[in-house]
Amino acid sequence: MSDALGLDDFTACGSHQHGHFLLSSGLHSGDYLQCALYLAEPRRAARAGALIAAAIADAVPAIDLVVSPAMGGLIIGHETARALGLPFLFTERADGEMVLRRGFAVTPGQRIVIVEDVVTTGKSTREVIEILEADGAVVVGLASMVNRSANPNPFDPKPYRALLGVSFPTWSADDCPLCADGVPIAKPGSRPIKKT
Ligand code: ZN
Repeated sequence: MSDALGLDDFTACGSHQHGHFLLSSGLHSGDYLQCALYLAEPRRAARAGALIAAAIADAVPAIDLVVSPAMGGLIIGHETARALGLPFLFTERADGEMVLRRGFAVTPGQRIVIVEDVVTTGKSTREVIEILEADGAVVVGLASMVNRSANPNPFDPKPYRALLGVSFPTWSADDCPLCADGVPIAKPGSRPIKKT
């Protein structure tokens, strides 16, 4: 599948930044991509949700429900569910455990699609699959705006769709060419925010 969104779409709104970044993993990278700035414009978020909805509905029949992990998946999951005309629930982390938000429940046999902003390793997504399937629901497909996993489907054999696949090089501090060039390093998204 060709990418439904281009990296240009993210660059244009500042969601994709060039520089020298210290990632949360401790690795260094010359690129940083995050979806929050992209989703900060509701019309863009709605468009991305509609694209995900079309892609996943094409891959998976008879979806009952969309579930996303908070915080990253909230906006895009909600927009996807809106485009599909389906209800939307979310999970959160409580004391380190992935749980459905208090008051939410799934029922046995319910066919669920999980929607994320970015899939990097897929680890937290797999935790969501586990808790939903422990309650008897069936995770029938997965989708994200961005796939950074370098694997076309980290959830195989379940169907997975992403609007954009990217793989930026990362290095340890010792091997980082940007460090070698003396480029100052920043934490991603740490541009100063004006207080009002
Ligand atoms: Zn570096």
